[in-house]
Amino acid sequence: MRKVSILGATGSIGQNTIDLIRRNQDAYDVVALTGASNIAQLAKDAMALRADLAVTADAARLDELRDALRGSDVEAAAGETALIDAAARPADWIMSAIVGAAGLAPGMEALKHGTTLALANKESLVCAGSLLLKTAAAHKATILPVDSEHSAIFQALQGEDIRTVERIIITASGGAFRDWPVEDLAHATLEQAQSHPNWDMGQRITIDSATLFNKAMEVIETREFFQVTPEQIEVLIHPQSLVHALVGFRDGGMMAHVGPHDMRHAIGYALHHPTRADLPVDRLDLAAIGRLEFRDPDDARWPALRLAREAMAAGGMTGAVFNAAKETALDGFIAGAIAFPEMADIVAQTLTDMSGHSGLIGDTMTLDNVAKVDHLARKAAQAAVEKRAG
Ligand code: NAD
Ligand code: MG
Repeated sequence: MRKVSILGATGSIGQNTIDLIRRNQDAYDVVALTGASNIAQLAKDAMALRADLAVTADAARLDELRDALRGSDVEAAAGETALIDAAARPADWIMSAIVGAAGLAPGMEALKHGTTLALANKESLVCAGSLLLKTAAAHKATILPVDSEHSAIFQALQGEDIRTVERIIITASGGAFRDWPVEDLAHATLEQAQSHPNWDMGQRITIDSATLFNKAMEVIETREFFQVTPEQIEVLIHPQSLVHALVGFRDGGMMAHVGPHDMRHAIGYALHHPTRADLPVDRLDLAAIGRLEFRDPDDARWPALRLAREAMAAGGMTGAVFNAAKETALDGFIAGAIAFPEMADIVAQTLTDMSGHSGLIGDTMTLDNVAKVDHLARKAAQAAVEKRAG
């Protein structure tokens, strides 16, 4: 039996992971599940999967979790330290699917115990990519990508030499507003931004798909994970979302990964790696689909991609600035304080404002320093949000 844990079990990725595990439950010994506000779901899954431990990130809700687990032998815990303890429990495979920079510390802890970390939490690579990779190497831990584009690149690279790679192309659906007149974006509502044309995901990543901040983060994620240069990474708008990524080699050949847009493919690939198992995803009928379209993203609609390139060029811990500014701007949009296009303005403004802290940003990358940068960048971004909100 393989020991597995799921950090962020109640979210979209977490629930898809649980779906795969429940289909073959006898093969797994579930150690820990973590969540935040959805206590009922967390308790229900922890009992159904007979987990040893359930943890809510919200320290104030320990009693509620205990009540929900009454009658079972699942242990309950709450708060940030409990989250780290859950990540430290011995497991062969741990899914990192907390949303946001909050996923960094638990993921780092898991790596220190030499586990295989299935990484959906792209924010940790954006904020602290080199630290994560270094920690994994030092503790003989393995990181497997779960973001669909990065799983696709990883699969296309099997048996290949990374030195023969010329370019990596990741695709973007273009999100909710890909066909809107650019001038209408100023009036885009939260309701409109959080409905994705192609699939269901968490609220935050869905809005990040509409701004293309999700893709911007993924460009940085690609650079960190595969250690290629920013110039080698390209983005294409591909409304059908069936080609997830392409890898171009120096002989002119390209390997494309094609598959249905169902995260259980990438999650399942990481769960069964290095083998492939049957997965409950649709099989594509390409003749019925008929055509696949690609186009270049335009800067006026999606400035996020340019901002990611600026962040990569600035180097050091600018990724943590980029992510913190993006998360704060997103909070501002969700709260109704700023308009949709202003999210990019806030990130641009924060990158500029934070250049005054170049000493700290260029300092050694440690969890503490990343947290300091994150904190300052959130403060700067929040000030920019409040200034615009009036
Ligand atoms: P989600 O919002 O649906 O779920 C997030 C999970 O994190 C929940 O379990 C929630 O309880 C937990 N959480 C939230 N705030 C927390 C905090 N402060 N501390 C601890 N736990 C907290 O998000 P999601 O869509 O499942 O995305 C999870 C991660 O996977 C993100 O990094 C996202 O970018 C990435 N990802 C998601 C998809 C997708 O299809 N949903 C695809 C690729 C990558
Ligand atoms: Mg993705």
